[in-house]
This record gives sequence, structure tokens and C-alpha cells, in this order.
Amino acid sequence: NGAVRVNMPNVDSPLQIFVRAKKKINDIFVEIDDYVKDAVTFMHAISGDKGIATPQDVANVEAYISKVQAIREVLKRDHMKVAFFGRTSNGKSTVINAMLHDKILPSGIGHTTNCFLQVEGSDTDEAFLRTDGSEEKLNVQSVSQLGHALCASRLQECSLVHVYWPRELCALLRDDVVLVDSPGVDVTPNLDTWIDQYCLDADVFVLVANAESTLMVTEKNFFHKVSTKISQPNIFILNNRWDASASEPEYLEQVRTQHANRCVDFLASELRVCTPKEAEDRIFFISAKEALLTRMREREKPVSSPIMAEGHQVRYFEFVDFERKFEECISKSAVRTKFAQHSRRGKNIAGDVMAALELVYNNATEQKTAKVEKQRILHEQLSAVEEQLTTITRQMKDKINRMVESVEHKVSLTLSQE
Ligand code: GDP
Repeated sequence: NGAVRVNMPNVDSPLQIFVRAKKKINDIFVEIDDYVKDAVTFMHAISGDKGIATPQDVANVEAYISKVQAIREVLKRDHMKVAFFGRTSNGKSTVINAMLHDKILPSGIGHTTNCFLQVEGSDTDEAFLRTDGSEEKLNVQSVSQLGHALCASRLQECSLVHVYWPRELCALLRDDVVLVDSPGVDVTPNLDTWIDQYCLDADVFVLVANAESTLMVTEKNFFHKVSTKISQPNIFILNNRWDASASEPEYLEQVRTQHANRCVDFLASELRVCTPKEAEDRIFFISAKEALLTRMREREKPVSSPIMAEGHQVRYFEFVDFERKFEECISKSAVRTKFAQHSRRGKNIAGDVMAALELVYNNATEQKTAKVEKQRILHEQLSAVEEQLTTITRQMKDKINRMVESVEHKVSLTLSQE
């Protein structure tokens, strides 16, 4: 049963690189949190009456509690983000649905996405919508309702709608992948704003092109802009609607080679985001429509149009191959961009707290040395006084002795005279 398969954790998936790294770094930050809290308790114990740590020392260390907390919050929400671009009706929504194994986003004639849709996992078993900047949750039960809700809310082209879908229903969502669908690059002049608002943190970009035509200037322009703002963006090109090639098998290889060469040229020579060899691994010829159909069938969902064109299996394998390469790329890239920075900060925090403790320790040692020194001086002073006393007493004794002697002498003299 397909549904069951989707629910099972896929330990072989390259996405696990990110999942495991995220777990590890979260665990490390739990330890850092404990360490900082221990340090604060210790600081309190040696401040106040004890007078070893000053209130400033305590406050310095205490400030790290909220810093660590803030990082832990960000870490919990960290995800892998993929953004899909292309001209209207090239099949972006269909690609996303096929990757999610379900018809989640509305697609097809009559519906064009005129805003950004961000599909992400929801921890509850409900699906709902939320527009950016609002806390209101709109429940959605079905795709048609989702489409209706999107039209009804009269969204602007540049707005973002979050679509929360139960994690347990899709492997990608469960492993923290967030998928962003965009309005067609042909419908807007606001490419710059889009990139700044929704793309700067994307780990992977997927250009959904139409295999029935060639790469368009508008599509190319968009990625030219992306590559000026992001250094070395990871770009995949899906030549979608490749099922159309089945009707002209005699040209299939020729057309494929032509498309592939142009795409390699675009990535490697025009954008210079990878080598020609790497570019070959970023270009795929697929049919999102067939892939979605195959998966809907696997999950025993009711689907129409059961007949698929010649070669659909090969196209499906290529789709699966794309997913694997995409998963590998996105998880590695996200680990690098998201976690490298956090682990550096974690290291700095641990170092800073240690330095603060060392400072207090050094102060305490200095205080102790000072006390010992004071005692030593006191002791020396006492010895001197003692010595003086001894001398004085000895002198007095002598004097008294001499006085007694002289008195005795005088008395004996007087007595003898009488
Ligand atoms: P978007 O505007 O880029 O999101 O495009 P959609 O996903 O809404 O797709 C537009 C239309 O193209 C829909 O009717 C899809 O069923 C159809 N479509 C998508 N992918 C394919 C494909 O691989 N082959 C064929 N023949 N049709 C497709």
C-alpha cells in the first residue's frame, strides 16, 4: 500500500543527512543550554555575600541563556527550502504535487497561481492555509477548496500563502522540506522583489521548463538575477511535458540532445554556476503529469485518464532519479548554509562562558593571594612589636635591677654609718 510506504521513515533517503545533522545540532544546543544554566547557578552561588563574582559578572553570563534559547528556536524551525520557477502552465504545481505524492496544489486550466504558495509540514493532522503576517488559519479539506480559498482571498502577486499539510502524509514534508510555488516568471515585472522576499534562503531552485519549446528569455533572465544575488545557487532544470515526445519518436533523441545542450550551456557557460559535467546531472526530462498519476494510483486514489503514452516508465524513472539527486543536493546545501553558522555561534558561546568563569576564578585567586599577603605583613608587624617588647622589657628589667642594687647599696651604706 502506497500510503503506508509514504508514512514509513525512509532511512536511505539523502534527506537524512539534514535530518540527522539537525538532530545532532539540536542535541548539542541542549547541552550548551545546560552548561550555561549551570554556570549561572554557580555565579549566583559565589556572588552577593561571598563577594567573589560581581553583579556584572552574573549578568554577563545570564545574558547567554536568552541567546541560546533564541538559537534553539531557530534550529527547531530550520528546514530545507526549494523554490520552483518557470512560465505559467509549464507544470510547476504538477511537479510539486508529484513530489508530494498527492494533489495538494491546485493546477490546470483556469487556475494560475498568482501568489507564492509555500507548502510545509503541519504537526496536526489538519490541513490549513495562512497568509503571511496573519495568524488566522483557514481550514482546507480538499484541493478544490484550496483553489477557491486562494481566489477568494484576492491575493496579490507578491504575497505569500503558507499551505500547511499533515507531515505524516508526505515523506518530504516529514523530513522538513518546504516547497515554494511561484507565479509564472512571465507574468510579473517584479523579479527583484520576489528574489529578495522569497528566494534568498532557498537551498535549491528548480526551473520547470517546457520540453515542447525552448528555454525562454524570461526564464533565463530570472536566473541571471538570482545568480547575481546568491553566490553559486543550486539550480535544477526539469524539461517537463516530455510525454509529448512519445508522439514523435523519430525525433526524440535529437530533440533531447538539443535541449540538453542548451541547458548545459545555460548553467555552465551563461550562469557559470557549475561545470558542464555537473550540469548534466542537473537536467532531467520528465512528465510531472504521469509521475503524479503513477503515484496517485500507487496510493489507490481515484484518478482519471488511465492510458499513458509510450515510454512513461522511463520518464518516471528519470523523475525518481531527479528526486534522488535533488534530495542529496538540498540536504547537503542546507546543512552547510544553516548549521555551519549555528555551530560557530555555539562554539563561541561555550568559549565566552568559559572565559567569564575563568575571569571570576582568576579574581578569586587574586583575592586569596592578597589576603595571604595581608596576613603575612600583619604577622611581620606583630613579630617586630614582639621584638620591641622583649627589648624594652629587658631594658626595664636591667634598670630595675640597677635601681634595686643602688637602693640596697645606699641602705647598707646608711646602716654601716649608723
Ligand atoms: P503551473 O502554472 O506551472 O503551475 O502549471 P500546472 O501544474 O498548473 O500545469 C498546467 C497544465 O499542464 C495542467 O493541465 C497540467 O495537468 C498540465 N501538465 C503538467 N505537467 C504535464 C506533463 O508533464 N505533461 C502533460 N501532457 N501535461 C502536463
